[in-house]
Amino acid sequence: MCGQRMSKIKVAINGFGTIGKRVADAVDAQDDMELVGVTKTGPSFGCDLAVKKGFPLYCTFDEPDRIARFADQGYVCSGGLSDLLAITDVVVDCSPGKTGAENLAKYQAAGVKYMFQGGEKHTLTGRSYTSSANHAENLNVEGTRVVSCNTTGLSRTLVPLYDHCGSLKVECTMIRRAADPGDSGKGPINAIKPVLKVPSHHGPDVMTVKPEIEINSLAVAVPTTIMHTHAITADLPPGHGLTTESILDMWRETPRVIVMHGADNRITTTAEVMEMARDIGRKWGDLHEIFVWEDGVSLQGDRLYYFQAIHQESDVIPENVDCIRALMGTESDWQTSVAKTDAAIDIYYNL
Ligand code: NAD
Repeated sequence: MCGQRMSKIKVAINGFGTIGKRVADAVDAQDDMELVGVTKTGPSFGCDLAVKKGFPLYCTFDEPDRIARFADQGYVCSGGLSDLLAITDVVVDCSPGKTGAENLAKYQAAGVKYMFQGGEKHTLTGRSYTSSANHAENLNVEGTRVVSCNTTGLSRTLVPLYDHCGSLKVECTMIRRAADPGDSGKGPINAIKPVLKVPSHHGPDVMTVKPEIEINSLAVAVPTTIMHTHAITADLPPGHGLTTESILDMWRETPRVIVMHGADNRITTTAEVMEMARDIGRKWGDLHEIFVWEDGVSLQGDRLYYFQAIHQESDVIPENVDCIRALMGTESDWQTSVAKTDAAIDIYYNL
């Protein structure tokens, strides 16, 4: 611990969509945090979830006519964003990507700490975050960005490898879900769409949290909504001393990584991974962990090949909780924070 805090960290969520509603639950599960409110841009079915959970509902904007619209549809709105920021220690911005710059000015004016998501660029805050890569660098800073679901997934398995080897050269291909299950406006629905900006941003984004890892990536979007899959090739330095089995053991001991044998467990596709996630019982069938197929890992000479699957809507959720502790300086050890975050979430969902 960096120091004892008497009161809970007051957390606001600006943008109660796919990521925001999940971060809200994860924050609500923690005994050192208090969720002081969530924002919606206007009345919609998403407000019902906030009401059901007892989360104070605020309007994303301060204009009185926008706030009044909530009451017109029967929702109690506690005020505008400025009212919410006035009672907040740290705001977690979960707005759609690229709306960050406008929101950042509001957070700075209100004097609150702030966190953005992976839809924003690193340059917005000049900092990025994953729990295992750079928790310490983000201690007590004013604001940062939790990297995207893909970058978080890469960081989970590559950082322990890097920490063992001292250097790492990585090429990877992101096979991306086309849309989240709740999206009706995205595609493709019957095509494979290569990202023609080469290399894609996903791999290089890892270097915003761990600059020492040399990494590039390609990406293609495919017609699925449930997960991303990564096909990864990593060149380890001479003298690394690792074997396929010892790498698997390393990942078995890594927080938020699940290693399972695909053939033995009949879990050979992302559909079965998601079915297993639904069995775990977290809300929305979420899987915070990165899934590595044991039988898809192979070290040949100094070159490591592996596949992993990422539940895009949920792997970043526990990272957001750890990041709040980093910004507030209440937990300096990332592993202690991870253990606390995950235990609280599991109790919340009665696992
Ligand atoms: P979303 O569209 O599901 O939710 C965004 C919410 O913000 C909506 O409720 C929207 O009404 C609200 N909003 C709109 N304008 C706003 C504004 N100016 N200020 C505050 N809120 C506003 O989006 P999402 O999928 O939750 O993505 C949020 C962020 O998380 C993005 O940066 C995205 O790139 C990132 N992210 C998304 C995923 C994913 O798979 N969905 C995974 C990791 C990271």
